[in-house]
Amino acid sequence: MKEQAPGKSTSSVWAGEEEYIMDNVTQVPVVHSVSYGYKDIEEWQNVALGRKKGHIYSRNTNPTVEVFEKKICMLEGAEAATSASTGMGIISSVLFALLAPGKRVVSVKDTYGGTTKIFTEFLPRYNVEVALCDTTDHEAIEAEIAAGCDLLYLETPTNPTIKLMDLKRLSQAGKKAGAVVVVDNTFATPINQQPLALGADLVLHSATKFLGGHADALAGVVCGSRELIDRIYHYREINGATLDPMSAYLILRGMKTLALRIERQNSNAMEIARHLSAHPRIRKVFYPGLESHEGHEIAKKQMKGYGAMLSFMLEEESLEAVGKVISGLRYAHAAANLGAVETIVGPPATTSHVECSREERQAMGIPESLIRYSTGIEDIEDLKADLDRALSVLG
Ligand SMILES: *Cc1c(COP(=O)(O)O)cnc(C)c1O
Repeated sequence: MKEQAPGKSTSSVWAGEEEYIMDNVTQVPVVHSVSYGYKDIEEWQNVALGRKKGHIYSRNTNPTVEVFEKKICMLEGAEAATSASTGMGIISSVLFALLAPGKRVVSVKDTYGGTTKIFTEFLPRYNVEVALCDTTDHEAIEAEIAAGCDLLYLETPTNPTIKLMDLKRLSQAGKKAGAVVVVDNTFATPINQQPLALGADLVLHSATKFLGGHADALAGVVCGSRELIDRIYHYREINGATLDPMSAYLILRGMKTLALRIERQNSNAMEIARHLSAHPRIRKVFYPGLESHEGHEIAKKQMKGYGAMLSFMLEEESLEAVGKVISGLRYAHAAANLGAVETIVGPPATTSHVECSREERQAMGIPESLIRYSTGIEDIEDLKADLDRALSVLG
């Protein structure tokens, strides 16, 4: 009988943890040891040369970190994974491991702020050409890919206006040009979207967000083929942005409830989006689950759930109004983070686009009265009442 692949909730709990990493412990121990001792020189050499399973030095590999990598690997349906101390640690490791002078990257204007900085400030210094396209203009992205592309970097849905890209279509174009296709899947999580199954070569996460889910640890991870992951791992072990075992443990613990949390956050966000769409103080709501959303058809095709992230624009076009609403919310942290069990809000002016001027934000199509809303797992009636109360202070 062919064994049935486990579901996402089962994998969230069990994946990577079937084998006890120490005798008889049922929970993953936090192994703080920097190095691993070998009395037998031959065994030491075999482990060091990768001929035998084991660990040598925790900047390279660590048992707790390895369980985290296995779990996400299985959830994304990948062959291999490697991690880093933060999301940006893994993004920069991917880019610097796979690129070299003379290579060309195609991406979009709405990637995560830190990623955009690597594209505009750092890669050009090393003579890597970067073409950044309008995020939803698929024809323009395909034209840039056809003009030469060694690495195609996508992120969907994006921050903060929740734009969507067709991963199957763009991965195909990337593959045809011989590019490595990379997708930042932080906003969707493997519960809602599986980029590798849609044709991408690498899928990465800021595990700081939904994977951990409790806003108490930073981490990054990338999954893909053994061959690509080995190249990224080799760069990361040398560059040293290693994930520490305590953070790996916190993320692992958070991941046990990943499927449950995302299910609840999906349904809460859908209801908030509908509620705000009908609210007189709101001009526009950006959420891929709404039929009015520009990317709704793409979302229906490639996402199993529409996610926890939405944003909305107030009728009153000012940062002052945003401040009033945000400070009036009782069940939401006003903070530069997302993906936690608590609802978190923030305007792009102090979060994703803090480094841009008001004029630059306007040019990018980011309204001053936009509020990013990372939906938590609270009771939906409390979240709706909270928003109504906070919005009622506006005239
Ligand atoms: C937060 C975030 C990152 C960066 O992750 P860190 O863990 O903060 O370094 C990258 N991509 C997206 C989509 C993010 O939201």
